[in-house]
Amino acid sequence: MSAPRLGAIESGGTKFVCLIGSAPDRIEAEIRFPTGEPAPTLTRAIDFFQERIAVTGPLDAVGIASFGPLELRPGHAEFGHLAATPKPGWSGVDVAGPVAAALGVPVGIDTDVNGAALGEGRWGAARGLDTYVYLTVGTGIGGGAVIGGKVVRGLVHTEMGHLTVPRIAGDTFPGSCPYHSDCWEGLAGGEAMGARWGTPAEELAGDALREALRLEVAYLAAGLRNIVYTTAPQRIVIGGGVAELSGLFPLLRAELSATLAGYPGLPEHAAEDFVVPAQLGGLAGPAGGLVLAAEAAAAAKHARHRQRSGAGPSGGTYA
Ligand code: ZN
Repeated sequence: MSAPRLGAIESGGTKFVCLIGSAPDRIEAEIRFPTGEPAPTLTRAIDFFQERIAVTGPLDAVGIASFGPLELRPGHAEFGHLAATPKPGWSGVDVAGPVAAALGVPVGIDTDVNGAALGEGRWGAARGLDTYVYLTVGTGIGGGAVIGGKVVRGLVHTEMGHLTVPRIAGDTFPGSCPYHSDCWEGLAGGEAMGARWGTPAEELAGDALREALRLEVAYLAAGLRNIVYTTAPQRIVIGGGVAELSGLFPLLRAELSATLAGYPGLPEHAAEDFVVPAQLGGLAGPAGGLVLAAEAAAAAKHARHRQRSGAGPSGGTYA
């Protein structure tokens, strides 16, 4: 059987990445452009796929990894729409529907963070695992949990960046989250670091970097402890700009071990491969789009099979 031809969209707050392929190392066409007004931006993405389809043939499905918050409840009237977002003009926009209508193929959609989690699981740092957490620590903090091979979605996608973490003694920074004063993102995201130290995290050096790392590692470990105890991950994969701070990972592993304090005493929690850097970098989002496209293609095939066998449609996907 030949590999499916899939389309992927990473719909980011600042840029769109659209590609056609079957894996991060099997990409036949790609386009990147800045995110503008919703209608022309989505049209530009659709045009890219239609032009390629005209030249090289049909796609099996498209997957979209989008900035959020998104409505993802299957069967919901607003499925695939953005909820209220600070991104001007994008609140309530239907991201998945126009792509499905224009291209006539199954479309899968999830958040960019969940997409990256799926991409890291299929091709990156969580390959071969079925229960893991992907965390991005960039301007903000976002996390996706894959449990038993399925990404966790319920009433809404997870919002791990807003976990509560204890304030480190002596830290008087008020927090940068507009909703919570002491949440994880508000105390330890890149925006919080920049505001606390008066300089972007990636420009810190010397004593300032050492002090920033001490605090950052303490906050990150505190949040990871909650994640370890609530989701029992086999591994935690961390991407985003703050994850690239020199020397972060060895300190973070040691601090996490210390904060778990020997409970439940698993050697795996202290192992080098328990908390690791993401591997896909800028391709994590589009790779997630490819996984979502493959899932949408499989769901559509399953639905067709059910219809042929008289079981009726199974609902919940764009097909
Ligand atoms: Zn918050």
